[in-house]
Amino acid sequence: MRSTFLPFSPPAIGEDEIAAVTSVLRSGWITTGPGVRQFEEEFATVVGASSALALNSCTAGLHIALVTLGIGPGDEVIVPTLTFAATANVVEHVGATPVLVDVEPDTLNISPAAVAAAITPRTRAIMVVHYGGHPADLAPLLDMGAQHNLAIIEDAAHALPARYRGRMVGSIGDFTAFSFYATKNLTTGEGGMLTGRPAALEQARILSLHGMSRDAWRRYSKEGSWYYEVVAPGFKYNMTDIQAAMGRVQLDKLTRMQARRRRIVAQYRSALAPLDAFDLPVERPDVEHAWHLFPIRLKQELPVSRNSFIEAMQVQNIGTSVHFIPLHLHPFYRDKYNYRPEQFPVATQAYRQLVSLPLHPGLTDADLADVVQAVQRIVSGRVTIFEQGKRAAIA
Ligand SMILES: *Cc1c(COP(=O)(O)O)cnc(C)c1O
Repeated sequence: MRSTFLPFSPPAIGEDEIAAVTSVLRSGWITTGPGVRQFEEEFATVVGASSALALNSCTAGLHIALVTLGIGPGDEVIVPTLTFAATANVVEHVGATPVLVDVEPDTLNISPAAVAAAITPRTRAIMVVHYGGHPADLAPLLDMGAQHNLAIIEDAAHALPARYRGRMVGSIGDFTAFSFYATKNLTTGEGGMLTGRPAALEQARILSLHGMSRDAWRRYSKEGSWYYEVVAPGFKYNMTDIQAAMGRVQLDKLTRMQARRRRIVAQYRSALAPLDAFDLPVERPDVEHAWHLFPIRLKQELPVSRNSFIEAMQVQNIGTSVHFIPLHLHPFYRDKYNYRPEQFPVATQAYRQLVSLPLHPGLTDADLADVVQAVQRIVSGRVTIFEQGKRAAIA
């Protein structure tokens, strides 16, 4: 058994990131400046976006997208229930109503049929989450958007880089928000990027820095001026040049990091499929998966529960996670909107079975073998968990 703990998702930071950050720290300009602009341009090129706005989180991007669209009280925004809290919280922040819908059984992405059933005259937008990095089925959603005049806002926190029917995620919906949180495919510690059409992103840019019509870098640089106007009560959501320096190095490494993720996924598949104990994540033929996560679902016939499985991995020094506790089960959403688990049969059932295995580019072949062996020991009944005291016996 492994002697040291294998963390679920440590950041892949190397000497290049450290050198880039150090150089910004020595440069005399550490907040939003030329590095952020360069990162925005390079990022837009990678995802084929016409324009990109760097922010301090993906959540900020989702929030600003809603504000830019003028969505507020009385409006409804459709959100899949199997997502992180941020996707729905931002809808609450603008005073609109998040309308939760169920997901599709294979990809666990937002169900277009459930969306169609949830549209009302008050619906203004659909929040599309690309669960685990598998692009959601955008074509029917874009059709519904066009028909009912709804904005398509993509929560692409997991979907860098991903492709849907040949188009990069980031170049498709009205707005797409990416996350550079510590565990994501590309990290700046904390950070995010919003892509969309240039005119909309210019509005979003003003909102991202106090609603000021000129940003600080331009004001304080040689060619800038002291004058600015506040045109909206904006937010403080800008990215720093320190983060951008790290992001640019990570962007350079992205293709290599993705190749490693793909190889790990292939190895997981060939090791785990023969066990016939799990439903493994799918990759539909019309997409390119970003493989942010490798969420497996324990088959219902297994004698071990999901919680015991996680415990049994933990005692074997393997970190795992669960993506996600559906929003309709969280007290705030459950109680405010009186949601019942039966309204979301796919997400409710999946939640009981889901475990995400470690998947990150720093995972070595030896680490991978440890994960697979730990899983095999559990499936073959060689790990027994005594639930109360959380002690395990390993045969
Ligand atoms: C991580 C995550 C977010 C939030 O990203 P931040 O950059 O931390 O704001 C939003 N949605 C999903 C699905 C995520 O996994």
